[in-house]
Amino acid sequence: MNNHTLSMPARCPRLWLAAITLVLIAAPGVRSESFYDRHVVFDNSFADQSYDRSEGMVVAPSKLELAGGKFPVDTNHFKTPPNSLRLKWLSAPGGDWRMKLKSPKQYGRNLHFQGGTLSFWCFSETGMTPEESPRITLQDTNDFGSGTIALLADSGGLPAGKWVQISIPIEQFKPLFQRPDDSQFDSRILGTIWLRQGLDDGKEHTLYLDDVQIHDRAPAVRQPPAPPAQLVVKGAERHFDLAWARNSESNLLRYQIYRSRDGEKYAPIGIQQGHLHRFVDFVGETGRTAFYRVSAINLAGDESPLSSPASASTRPFNDDELLDMVQEGCFRYYWEAAHPHAGMALEIVPGDENLVAVGASGFGIMALIAGTERHFITREQCAERLLKITRFLRKADRFHGAWPHFLNGQTGRVVPYFGKYDDGGDLVETAFLVQGLLAAREYFDRDTAPEREIRQTITGLWRGVEWNWYRKEPSSPCLYWHWSPDFGWHISHPLVGWNETMMVYLLAIASPTHPVPASLYHTGWAGQSDFAVRYRHEWSRTTQGDHYTNGGAYHGFKLDVGEGSGADLFFTQFSFMGFDPRGMKDQYADYFRNNRNIALINHAYCAENPRRFIGYGADCWGLSAGVNSGGARPLPRDDNGTICCSAALGSFPYAPQESMAALKHFYRDLGARIWGIYGFHDGFNETEDWYEPVWMGLNQAVITVMIENYRSGAIWKHFMANPEIAPALQTIGFRPDGDTGAH
Ligand code: CA
Repeated sequence: MNNHTLSMPARCPRLWLAAITLVLIAAPGVRSESFYDRHVVFDNSFADQSYDRSEGMVVAPSKLELAGGKFPVDTNHFKTPPNSLRLKWLSAPGGDWRMKLKSPKQYGRNLHFQGGTLSFWCFSETGMTPEESPRITLQDTNDFGSGTIALLADSGGLPAGKWVQISIPIEQFKPLFQRPDDSQFDSRILGTIWLRQGLDDGKEHTLYLDDVQIHDRAPAVRQPPAPPAQLVVKGAERHFDLAWARNSESNLLRYQIYRSRDGEKYAPIGIQQGHLHRFVDFVGETGRTAFYRVSAINLAGDESPLSSPASASTRPFNDDELLDMVQEGCFRYYWEAAHPHAGMALEIVPGDENLVAVGASGFGIMALIAGTERHFITREQCAERLLKITRFLRKADRFHGAWPHFLNGQTGRVVPYFGKYDDGGDLVETAFLVQGLLAAREYFDRDTAPEREIRQTITGLWRGVEWNWYRKEPSSPCLYWHWSPDFGWHISHPLVGWNETMMVYLLAIASPTHPVPASLYHTGWAGQSDFAVRYRHEWSRTTQGDHYTNGGAYHGFKLDVGEGSGADLFFTQFSFMGFDPRGMKDQYADYFRNNRNIALINHAYCAENPRRFIGYGADCWGLSAGVNSGGARPLPRDDNGTICCSAALGSFPYAPQESMAALKHFYRDLGARIWGIYGFHDGFNETEDWYEPVWMGLNQAVITVMIENYRSGAIWKHFMANPEIAPALQTIGFRPDGDTGAH
């Protein structure tokens, strides 16, 4: 069994992580990490108790303060606001302790640190001598270690009560001996900084560490950046949205945000990476006025004067305003964080800046349309973006008309992210992309040059997809996920429902140029063969629903179709952003009703919370594929305590009251941790004090688009208006059903 025989490898970041180690991501000569990523090893912890990318251990009689086994976070002391790491230890004879601080290698982000100096900002209330300081060792991602030195060896020690930058030339970490094979530690791929027991003086010490960087020595001539311009602040219900014009300095590292309650006294409250020009300050209360100013800081640490001030007030929002706010936040992922050349969505942000995701871009197109309908951008702006995307797609790699899962946004070439065999077409990603393109083709219906070009290009792209090629053989009862020009059908992953890929069959049957017979829907997607049943057993490990239909009731809700008790919620979302299932059914189910029940089962399960995870409840629910989730688990098998924000918020059409309760709880109670510049972060796990810092291309659009479908049905309307869709549904056997989805 290879790693693609699970239904969802492409959707499950846990599985990606295994794949990431096998492949190189960046195309030669194309930088995929930002200036910030090249220099910053640590700046802030996302959670305010413990730092996720760390691990500590201690052997008595030594002592080491730990927070859940990790580095404790301190919000009272910091160099870069709002927090630092607190190292508190007692080194005793016979004991030992060590703390691992891991660099931010994750989610396809390449490590390429640049510079010959490692620097830390350090603070001690009482002062510290070099002898008292811990020892430090570096380790790269190939597990080659450096020599060990005392952290403060070069510095002469720390004065009391003052932040000091400790700079250590990396050559000082030279090992005591050479490895027999000449390999050596490579600071460009620094993976872990080890802090460990030094002199066993039996005394308690506390050292605050912050803003760990790799860089070259600062230049002799110092030139601070210009102050940021055009600062604008908007007050929402419980947060402030700041935006400003980008600075142009090439060595700009970050911005620092200052807040004042009275417009007089400003205090630093946060930072932003230099390539981003937005900030969210979640204050957690309404009716509050705040003033802001922003500075720019370069790599040498020179800080600009503060920008002109701007102020706003928070105020209560009604439900419509909350929905607008959430839709706009998530929409920005596709509008502002899109690849500048391709216009397409990135797989993950922050992450590899050239890794463009094909399916997520299809979702993003629908989010752009929703954003236009909500007046976040103009129709002309949206059309301009669609022109960029469609022109890029016309030239990008295709394999019998199907795009790969990932493209390099600069070059348009395939990126075999999941391993060497994944270097060809991906029919599922292609279907998600085409779903968005077809919605756009109907949306842009005006007789203007840009809109004509959009329609014509999309028609050409749609007609170019050879859906029938992906049958593998003319007699095959199903479609296959991948084909590679180098490895053919090696991955050989059949598309068998129930899962998120229903859109593939709908479009393959609807294709005007390369269709498959409608019978494949019944023999492949809903197949009853021994093979199809075995396939469902393989990934779901349950006999419930192994013949596509289920028939059981879970938490009081009937499940017509689906394995187990319904599985994760993206099954009810990815193919149903365009496909409007209301008021019709095939021979197996009314999918609106079925999706609604899957959402309600998921809600009831989380409300009941049999595993007693912290936070779960009637207003805190939603299991789906995201960072740190268990995969496409039928409930409750792989429930690990992680809530995926898009799961509940993408269920608005199915369970509006339950979704609105989650929206209010996520925003009002958890907003300080999970609300950010692109809306809600991907997920969180309160049991583990884990709050995901990233956003994912597959999940943000689900929120914006499904809320739009709940509010106006607009995306459903545009996709369903394509003339190929209704006849395809008819030939499959869809018929009108009494349930129109009214709630
Ligand atoms: Ca900090």
